[in-house]
Amino acid sequence: MITAKRGLLSRALQQRPEPQSTAHDVLRVALHEISPALHLRISPRAKRMALRLDSKTGRIHLVLPPRASLRKGLEFARDHQDWIFKHAAEAPAPIALTDGSILPVLGQDRVIRITFDKSLKRTSIHLNPNEIIVSTNKENPTQRIFRFLKNLAREEITRVSHEKAKQINRIPGDIRIGDTKSRWGSCSQEGNLSFSWRLVLAPLESFDYVIAHEVAHMAHMDHGAQFWALCEELSADFKAGHGWMKKNGHQLMRYV
Ligand SMILES: [Zn+2]
Repeated sequence: MITAKRGLLSRALQQRPEPQSTAHDVLRVALHEISPALHLRISPRAKRMALRLDSKTGRIHLVLPPRASLRKGLEFARDHQDWIFKHAAEAPAPIALTDGSILPVLGQDRVIRITFDKSLKRTSIHLNPNEIIVSTNKENPTQRIFRFLKNLAREEITRVSHEKAKQINRIPGDIRIGDTKSRWGSCSQEGNLSFSWRLVLAPLESFDYVIAHEVAHMAHMDHGAQFWALCEELSADFKAGHGWMKKNGHQLMRYV
């Protein structure tokens, strides 16, 4: 079976008339078979092929220059399988939002307790000091739990943003809560703030630091000395919060 697949693959990769995107898709599948953590990235800036570990997401990218041979790219990945396995194993394992999983919500570990009852009219979710109690008529309430966490994030982030902005005599514009992969927060010229809902899963000092960071941008739209001084002033524990985000922020992406 492997041979058949490989035959098919090299044919797809060699066929010149094949549209590039299709060949890329074939290569993506082949890379996924080597490791689900392995992804393809065609980069116009790349001079030669390389494997890059994105420590934020735990993903490994096979980076290829636009005109590189895809077949050679695959060979390259296969030649470096050991390196790929080693680094893929170091990436944190995903944590599913299911019964019994532990979620650190607002600095406190809480066990998800799901009770399924078909006769219920709706799903209700309550946050206890040590638990998240879910009573649901849904076979899979994961999306409901995500929505609950997102709403909780909106409430808490909005409250803390206003508190911090008040310290510098400002009022935030819109506060948006999303699920961005690359940034935990951002601040626009107009003073609108955006945050990832996943911050509710970070330690409290990190949650606090990211908000302080974006609020500080309302006064300084750069990362200069004045900005950092204000950011530290607005943070409950700048050193711990900043340090944890830098080192462990990517772990917030584990919850699926
Ligand atoms: Zn910044």
